[in-house]
Amino acid sequence: MAEVTLDKIVSLCKRRGFIFQSSEIYGGLNGAYDYGPLGVALKNNIRDMWWKEMTQLHDNIVGIDASILMNSTVWKASGHVSNFTDPMVDCKVCHARFRADQIDLDGPCPNCGNKDTFTAPRNFNLMFTTHIGPTQDDSSVVYLRPETAQGIYVNFKNVVQSCRMKVPFGIAQVGKSFRNEITTKNFIFRSCEFEQMEMQWFCKPGTDEQWFPYWREQRMKFYGKMGIRMDHLRWHQHGPDELAFYAKDAYDIQYLFPMGWQELEGVHSRTDYDLTQHQKFSGKDMTYLDPADNSRYIPYVVETSAGLTRNVLMALSDAYEEQELEGGDSRVVLHFHPNIAPIMVAVLPLMKKDGLAEYASKVEHDLREDFTTDFDVSGAIGRRYRRQDEIGTPYCVTIDYDTLNDHTVTLRFRDSMEQKRIPVSEIANEIRKANKEYKRV
Ligand code: ATP
Repeated sequence: MAEVTLDKIVSLCKRRGFIFQSSEIYGGLNGAYDYGPLGVALKNNIRDMWWKEMTQLHDNIVGIDASILMNSTVWKASGHVSNFTDPMVDCKVCHARFRADQIDLDGPCPNCGNKDTFTAPRNFNLMFTTHIGPTQDDSSVVYLRPETAQGIYVNFKNVVQSCRMKVPFGIAQVGKSFRNEITTKNFIFRSCEFEQMEMQWFCKPGTDEQWFPYWREQRMKFYGKMGIRMDHLRWHQHGPDELAFYAKDAYDIQYLFPMGWQELEGVHSRTDYDLTQHQKFSGKDMTYLDPADNSRYIPYVVETSAGLTRNVLMALSDAYEEQELEGGDSRVVLHFHPNIAPIMVAVLPLMKKDGLAEYASKVEHDLREDFTTDFDVSGAIGRRYRRQDEIGTPYCVTIDYDTLNDHTVTLRFRDSMEQKRIPVSEIANEIRKANKEYKRV
């Protein structure tokens, strides 16, 4: 099988409208990307699947959508102002900049190859700052949030009181985060503006020992549901040098990206650290009175923290395949699970003329209520199938001359390329059934 490289993914993303470089006509901006029509559909589908998984399919999880700009004291309490730093070195010859923990400081510069050219490592805070109001001084500094989690912690009491939540319960949030990353290579894997899907699970101290393995298992299962190949996923437990000082335990889910095994999501056992810090800095009581036994405590937190945009890169890399077909033909196919495919069904009239396009257009309009659809009349039918394969559309419906007489259509399946003849009235049912039974071949 042909190797899946990041270059091939980047090129497909641009060619077919998944992802573009931000401000491309001006030479781009490092670490910033724009999601095109298919990319935003893919991203929204992954987000919706995660949201449903967390808030609908689990007990006691509610959602919030906190503001990106927060009171600056939040980031003092969380430790981000003093500790959210990466060590940075510059090459004195070519001025390339690296994260000191990601290169061999005794080796040559990875960019220009010269030796002994690195500056001493300096700590660099990853938070973007801006100012609120007309004066630009220390008192007006605000940060673009570097994670969504703090928006959840500071609303802990609001949610308990307004929604009468009982511990254990969770708060889920999806949103943008910003980090002034020193190195932003590898496409959308590490960008300065990205999206996270985070859930903070509040539980009684001691019970975190049960919830931590529970949430690890749940999170891994989720990727199975998303149709990701399980042999491309693995666990990485944080060693003592990686573990935050307050964390009890932490595991990453890693995915085998085209550039190797890399973190996709973190599942962290964070104790009562965050709520205690906010209690200290805000002076507000963060304790919870447990009606079960009248005990009062600051809940422990188990966090599941996934990158949404990093999930998009995983979904694309995992789905991508170049296939040699019989007769010397070949195709690029994205084997997206139907739950995340940007377009569910494409309707293709065999010809534009003789009423076929009109018939097909009506079929497509009828399907819109239930599915995301595409309509394509141009080019040979084989070429049109290839175009849909390349963007991961699981089903194509072809309208031909027989359709006009007997109202049957050809339903074509992306992965197997099998075709079957079905009544036009059965399209939606057939697709629903196939979605339920979907297994990647
Ligand atoms: P790293 O050490 O690689 O910088 P991290 O361990 O600090 O990342 P977390 O703070 O745990 O990452 O963030 C949770 C998730 O958010 C990550 O697993 C990743 O999916 C996503 N994420 C973090 N930083 C970025 C980024 N710059 N671009 C895209 N996604 C990111």
